[in-house]
Amino acid sequence: MAKSSNYKRESCSFCGRAKKQVDAFVEGPGGVFICPECVELCYNIVRQERRRLQGGQTLFSDVPKPREIKEFLDQYVIGQEHAKRSLAVAVHNHYKRLMHTEIDDQDVELEKSNVLLIGPTGSGKTLLAKTMARMLHVPFAICDATTVTEAGYVGEDVENFLLRLLQNADYDIEAAQRGIVYVDEIDKVGKTSQNVSITRDVSGEGVQQALLKMLEGTISNIPPQGGRKHPEQQYIQIDTTQIMFICGGTFVGLDNIVKKRLGKRMIGFDSEQSGRSAKKEDYSEMISQVTPEDIIEFGMIPELVGRLPIITTLSALDESALIQILTEPKNALVRQYQRLFEMEEAELKFTDEALSLLAQRAMKRDTGARALRAVMEELMVDMMYRLPEEPKPGKYVITPEIIEGQADLFAQQRRAKKEGA
Ligand code: ADP
Repeated sequence: MAKSSNYKRESCSFCGRAKKQVDAFVEGPGGVFICPECVELCYNIVRQERRRLQGGQTLFSDVPKPREIKEFLDQYVIGQEHAKRSLAVAVHNHYKRLMHTEIDDQDVELEKSNVLLIGPTGSGKTLLAKTMARMLHVPFAICDATTVTEAGYVGEDVENFLLRLLQNADYDIEAAQRGIVYVDEIDKVGKTSQNVSITRDVSGEGVQQALLKMLEGTISNIPPQGGRKHPEQQYIQIDTTQIMFICGGTFVGLDNIVKKRLGKRMIGFDSEQSGRSAKKEDYSEMISQVTPEDIIEFGMIPELVGRLPIITTLSALDESALIQILTEPKNALVRQYQRLFEMEEAELKFTDEALSLLAQRAMKRDTGARALRAVMEELMVDMMYRLPEEPKPGKYVITPEIIEGQADLFAQQRRAKKEGA
């Protein structure tokens, strides 16, 4: 008898879970126990509390000015001036409203200013959102709207976006509720008029409805990680009212919708643009004139478009922008390789022609700046492989011949050394 009552007591004193349900158990004096999950929970509570005491209640002492935000973005994102400006203003206003409602919440109705970014693949949409979150020190999550489409449209999946945000906030609910969520491929949940399919239509709209709720502001029930149930608190509740949503998409075909709407005016424009070379600029030029109606025509439900009051477009990156991306941002690829070479006591340089050639190669892949990394890696992998075995210190210059495979970087270096000696 005594044994069974003893066994009965061996459960977590916090959540009541029995010992056999968990993998480890910590025992305290007087027959108290705690399970690993409750330890983790307690740890998070303590940490949140400490953070709150250190940082005070407010998120910022002062919301950065739009100009400061843009200047920060400039360090990482090349071009896209228009998008940077509108995003800077939107974010500034969003957090200003947040602070304002903290101070007094009587006279101001908090209007959400979610943002829609439209632009080709690899033009910096995700990068903008990510850099923004970094500047503001708020939790950030990147989510893909198409994952929701695949799994069905009951709506629960959309909550996974918030779970990701919460995880990135180290389960600090308060911080997560002021975070930024980037929803990629928002255009893919539209019921595109070009590609009518019965199943896609339905699911597309279901996803949009679920997203709409989240964007508007709702109390979402988030299943904690792994879906493990907690007797009292099965779901974590997150209020999305103050979360800023930045949605992004390429909206392929949207340029034609704009073109059609602009109608007659376009005839003149078309005749000005002679030939095929204008294609990319044409797309950028068209989408820069987009209106909410065009996006509805594209297949987004009006309510959702209404919840994205700030629409801004990014243009396709040209060769000179790609060269800048290779060399200028704080984490530019060329700088990264130069640093790696430095660690081997070697100096690395690229000629202007070499940079041009790399940019041209990237452009051929039609994935914007995203292709730069692949192009660069293809070029550098062999060099990085051999570099540690080369005589030190070294001085290397990458020329178009080396990129084309007509010359060897290390042979060149050896020759230069011999001539010098
Ligand atoms: P997308 O527009 O498809 O969201 P991303 O923002 O993910 O494109 O860009 C992919 C990568 O390309 C980024 O991680 C970044 O390295 C580079 N990149 C894209 N656009 C820019 C830009 N305007 N300035 C600097 N780097 C960029």
